[in-house]
Amino acid sequence: MAVIIDESCITCDACLQNCPVNAIVDDMSNPTGESRYYVHQEKCIECVGVFENPQCAAICPSIGCITWDMPFTKEFEEHFLNEEVYKPESPSFREKKYRKDISLSMRGIKKEVQEEPKCG
Ligand code: SF4
Ligand code: SF4
Repeated sequence: MAVIIDESCITCDACLQNCPVNAIVDDMSNPTGESRYYVHQEKCIECVGVFENPQCAAICPSIGCITWDMPFTKEFEEHFLNEEVYKPESPSFREKKYRKDISLSMRGIKKEVQEEPKCG
């Protein structure tokens, strides 16, 4: 999916309004049935070519709510097809752009896209 929204989502709608590819749906349309917004991984392009960083995370008021996931490519197909939190289409026929400068070690549960602003 590239990025994922966790349970700290406060359903403020900011990310949905700013996603350049309409990859985000609200809690009412979340295919997992959870009361949080949801990123359709088969649509997310990590904002490559549009914004410098994922715009959803940049604008989200809930720090740490949006985290990295694996690139949505054939290489990681098993990851997406075996994970309960996704309702994906197979990456094998719908690969998406991703940020190659983000290492795999930075991707995964609780790897924040948006870092807490540093003071001073
Ligand atoms: S990273 Fe960009 S393309 Fe992906 S869901 Fe967020 S705003 Fe949309
Ligand atoms: S911007 Fe953050 S808190 Fe607001 S709906 Fe999106 S994920 Fe949830």
